Amino acid sequence: MQITKNAVASIEYELTDDEGNVIDSSKGREPLTFLFGVGGLIPGLEAELEGKAAGDAFKVRIAPEDAYGERHEEMMADVPRSQFPADADIQPGMQFQASGPQGSQVITVVGVEADTVRVDGNHPLAGVHLNFDVKVVDVREANAEELEHGHVHGPGGHGH
Ligand code: ZN
Repeated sequence: MQITKNAVASIEYELTDDEGNVIDSSKGREPLTFLFGVGGLIPGLEAELEGKAAGDAFKVRIAPEDAYGERHEEMMADVPRSQFPADADIQPGMQFQASGPQGSQVITVVGVEADTVRVDGNHPLAGVHLNFDVKVVDVREANAEELEHGHVHGPGGHGH
């Protein structure tokens, strides 16, 4: 069968940026198994997967607007060092969960000064072109319980 809304698809994949750095990969792990068409994937990848069947392989380069969006410089901010725990060793690259106007978001520390910490509230992959190398390994019908829960059960899915 083909990948269509409410199908369960399993894929092997490698995700790289334009410099060839591996951002994510299923290598050495179970394939990624997901319920298709329920908004769990970035739009650019979902569009490429639709209609594919087990055994199909493809490469696609996805622009930020079809992935994690463009970067917004106004989401960079200088936060007083005093807002972080006094005993925390704040280093660039550290990520924190913060509550903001749009709910919970991940912020990344990009610089540390004596009194301030520069943070970036953009998604780490905002503004990044994503290069996917994908192989579809399995496509099956979702069962009624999976459809009700909106996610996959069994290998690669929820274990309840
Ligand atoms: Zn469930």
